[in-house]
Amino acid sequence: MPQNGSTPARLDAVIVGAGFAGLYMLLRLRNAGFSARVIEAGDGVGGTWYWNRYPGARCDIESLQYQYGFNDELPREWTWSEKYATQPEILAYINYVADKYDLRRDIQFDTRVTSASFDERTDRWAVQTDRGDEFSARFCIMATGCLSAAKVPDIPGLERYEGEWYHTGAWPHEGVDFSGKTVGVIGTGSSAIQSIPVIAQQAKHLTVFQRTANFSMPANNGPLDEDYRAKMTTDYTSIRKAARNSPAGILGRPMSDKSVLEASEEERNREFEARWEIGGLGLGGAFNDVGLNLEANAIAAEFVRSKIRAIVKDPETAELLCPRDYPFGTKRLCVDTGYYATFNRDNVKLVNIKGNPIEEITPRGLRTGNAEYEFDAIVFATGFDAMTGALLKIDIRGRDGLTLREKWEHGPRTYLGLQVAGFPNLFTITGPGSPSVLSNMIVSIEQHVDWIFDCLSYLREHELSTIEASREAEDRWVDHVNEIASHTLFPMANSWYIGANIPGKPRVFMPYIGGVGNYAQKCQHIADNGYDGFELDSGRVAVAAG
Ligand code: FAD
Ligand code: NAP
Repeated sequence: MPQNGSTPARLDAVIVGAGFAGLYMLLRLRNAGFSARVIEAGDGVGGTWYWNRYPGARCDIESLQYQYGFNDELPREWTWSEKYATQPEILAYINYVADKYDLRRDIQFDTRVTSASFDERTDRWAVQTDRGDEFSARFCIMATGCLSAAKVPDIPGLERYEGEWYHTGAWPHEGVDFSGKTVGVIGTGSSAIQSIPVIAQQAKHLTVFQRTANFSMPANNGPLDEDYRAKMTTDYTSIRKAARNSPAGILGRPMSDKSVLEASEEERNREFEARWEIGGLGLGGAFNDVGLNLEANAIAAEFVRSKIRAIVKDPETAELLCPRDYPFGTKRLCVDTGYYATFNRDNVKLVNIKGNPIEEITPRGLRTGNAEYEFDAIVFATGFDAMTGALLKIDIRGRDGLTLREKWEHGPRTYLGLQVAGFPNLFTITGPGSPSVLSNMIVSIEQHVDWIFDCLSYLREHELSTIEASREAEDRWVDHVNEIASHTLFPMANSWYIGANIPGKPRVFMPYIGGVGNYAQKCQHIADNGYDGFELDSGRVAVAAG
């Protein structure tokens, strides 16, 4: 029962999260007459772009591709100002979409879903929130995000720290002014690499604590070329269709079909230089074996290191910034504007903490294994409990009271990253086992939402009550996901893809690396074959959707 004693609100679907995924899911369901409600922990829409307001935050897939593509109208209506849009611009865009389609009336903000349990007597989900609401829904759709559970590391002493501290993934809405302050940034992932150049321009002094150096490519950002914009937005449906059939949901310079080992030095340099000049994430696609063969990979890695050495004046700092602990591209590549050059500034210092970890946050700053530092402010750019974190924070219970935490004790198990055996009518948008974080996520989100929408429509049409991944199909899929990852170099890195950033998290490569286009075809084929690998049941209750 709801804590306020009233009857649970009855819905066709509860959608958890109001980022790109939750909003599009709501739009599709509502337009087809399903009753749906979105529950969102924040007080506005936007998800990632609502929470990550740190200085320098922007997308690293070009704006014209990092936007909704479900119709031609939106891309034509919205004008992005730069090649890579800033966080405020993306947030303004997603608010514009929410207003245009009047989505807010079906969103409950400032409310966190705390539990969801499947009632086998009624084939319905009971969903509870931290505000005492209870919803009874046939479908529970998790649009909770892959990178939404911000992680502050468990370093003792933070509660005694007397300065200001922030996590990039939960940045204050009013912004932070670092002028005249001494600042410490912990971490050198994408969030740090974007924020460090901007913080360095403001702060009196900035110290960057690096545990692992990262590969970062220049954004070469700038105003959007009008001709390119016109070309991209004339027929966006076709552009999106092509992206959906591509390996990573991104259109750009295609991956070469040549091995770097077979290319002459001149050919190698020409291709690497061209991609470096274009900027962004495309360097890994320069040759077809960079992600598969260590020797080939080492050539790409050395190219980036040569660039770092050319930019950073102090040779010792340059060497520290050169990544060496893992193959190129096996941790998420970063895209920056002036990151390496920032270490040429007099007010910036790089501290290598690889052998001397941060042991304590002190009242005035922090202490590593061999030194003590004082700061007015500390920025944790320490990342997320990725892919499973937001889901496992919710007490999700399926058949026989089985919890998702128990089910995923040894790592996530899903069928297609869309469903979990034992949890009927529960869907995960961009769940583990799908291309998700290895792709332009808007493309993957739209593909999942469309698939889920078609599935719910199919159930309604055929008067079916539940859909549930079969255990056999799930086992086969998990084996397939692991098998193809094992042929790549990805498992060699201690990345968040593999859960290595969270102490105690099972070491499992979570996303599906078989490619966006291949994956989408598999999903479609499965649906076209009557949802092969899923168990569909007419159940105990009449289908009331619509
Ligand atoms: P999110 O945007 O994460 O939204 C999930 C929402 O669910 C959040 O608002 C959260 O508050 C809510 N929620 C979670 N749990 C609960 C709960 N229990 N109850 C209520 N609400 C809940 N991807 C790219 O493809 N290209 C990029 O350039 C790119 N840049 C990024 C930059 C940053 C800083 C980060 C962190 C991620 C970036 N990503 C990028 C990935 C990004 O997360 C996705 O592109 C996309 O925005 C995800 O949308 P979503 O709706 O799936 O999830
Ligand atoms: P991240 O990539 O996980 O980076 C976290 C950083 O913090 C790493 O350098 C990590 O070091 C360090 N760290 C964590 N705990 C630490 C500790 N106890 N002591 C010292 N260092 C510690 O997180 P993120 O930068 O927030 O990025 C997460 C993902 O979000 C990205 O990979 C990307 O997918 C997305 N993102 C995209 C953009 C963009 O450009 N559009 C921007 C931000 C984020 P180790 O490497 O040693 O663990």
